[in-house]
Amino acid sequence: MIRLEGSAALFQRALEVLPGGVSSPVRAFRAVGGTPRFVRRASGALLEDEDGCEWLDFVGSWGPLILGHAHPEVVAAIHRAAAAGTSYGAPCRAELELAELVVEAYAGIEQVRFVSSGTEATMSAIRLARAATGRDEIVKFAGCYHGHTDSLLVAAGSGLATFGTPSSAGVPVAQAALTHVLPLDDEALLREFLGRRGPRLAAVIIEPVPANHGLLLQRRSFLQTLRNETARFGIVLIFDEVISGFRLGAGGAAERFGVAPDLATFGKVIGGGLPVGAFGGHRELMKLLAPEGPVYQAGTLSGNPVAMAAGLKTLEILRLEAGWERLERLGEALQRRLDPVLKRATLPAQLVRLGSIFWLCLQEGEPPRSTERIDPAAPERYRHVFHGLSSRGVALAPSAYEVGFLSLAHQEADLERFAAALEAVLTEAATVV
Ligand code: PMP
Repeated sequence: MIRLEGSAALFQRALEVLPGGVSSPVRAFRAVGGTPRFVRRASGALLEDEDGCEWLDFVGSWGPLILGHAHPEVVAAIHRAAAAGTSYGAPCRAELELAELVVEAYAGIEQVRFVSSGTEATMSAIRLARAATGRDEIVKFAGCYHGHTDSLLVAAGSGLATFGTPSSAGVPVAQAALTHVLPLDDEALLREFLGRRGPRLAAVIIEPVPANHGLLLQRRSFLQTLRNETARFGIVLIFDEVISGFRLGAGGAAERFGVAPDLATFGKVIGGGLPVGAFGGHRELMKLLAPEGPVYQAGTLSGNPVAMAAGLKTLEILRLEAGWERLERLGEALQRRLDPVLKRATLPAQLVRLGSIFWLCLQEGEPPRSTERIDPAAPERYRHVFHGLSSRGVALAPSAYEVGFLSLAHQEADLERFAAALEAVLTEAATVV
């Protein structure tokens, strides 16, 4: 029963005053159809919407909520910080402590600059790389998403793939022309391109764990080749760890694969659910930033004390409670439960997973490692799976290309519930798709 001011009614109102009814496009459910849920509260692994319905949540606000929703200690840290002032526009102890933590955790990072989103982090890292090299052109990989700054909105992931547009309107052609797009998983092409264009390239940016167009797990050798070839031409290698940073472990994907970038960008987990982004690298590069150097970069709310407190507490809990090890085990448990269910399904389905990041990949054969290998029929299959799970109280992201996230709030019983719901849906979907 939809109440008068339930999600459907609120969405109708929202359509009047918010473009598409939302503040960020994938939330509008265009890829799967239906009405987005208006969430009124969330706790642990559960979301409650404005109709009073509850969902077991595997979206986790698209990645930040690694401890689950409204973790009591994070909320308490936020309360304490807010009571002491919500923004100073001046340095504070919390930003220093979070910076020290990042420097200690991530190989090759000596200094960090805080911003308020992942988009700002990648945008600023690209500017820094251009200044450091005196070059303008950059390389990104098809399917990788790095936020919505102009130069990176070229062949990006998720939302754009979902809407079937290769890039955004409003991005100047001259700007996009400075961005070259290469396919993932292709060392030969990479070598050939850098051999030709290397001396003109400022940066190569990659999600070392591409998680915005499905989960396109890369071979370590591909990342290593990227490291070697960029070093050869003096190109700044940027790992966009907005999703993978502080989720796969304290040292991110760089530690996981044993390949270190020149600059790394962060977001999501580092802010514990509040708006935080960051980028960091060697002092030699970072000292080019204003006020030390000529690269201008600033933010009214950068290093915000409340956001820093949320990030610090989140990372502290992960460290003290062996969070990353527990998430690994939880990921393995999810795999053990879902694998047999997916195997029995009559539609093609497999779980692609790294640690606590997972993707329901609805196609046959080897898991894809580049966008070209994604079966165009998968989104249609996903639509059924998404709605089937939703009607059974399990929330996955409203797009076939988005990954799911486990948090420390998920219990074994939750995984069991997910598996049972999926089994029911796949049995049902077999008759539909
Ligand atoms: N980089 C990656 C890898 C991301 O996944 C995202 C957002 N999903 C961004 C950058 C942009 O971050 P934000 O949405 O905070 O601007």
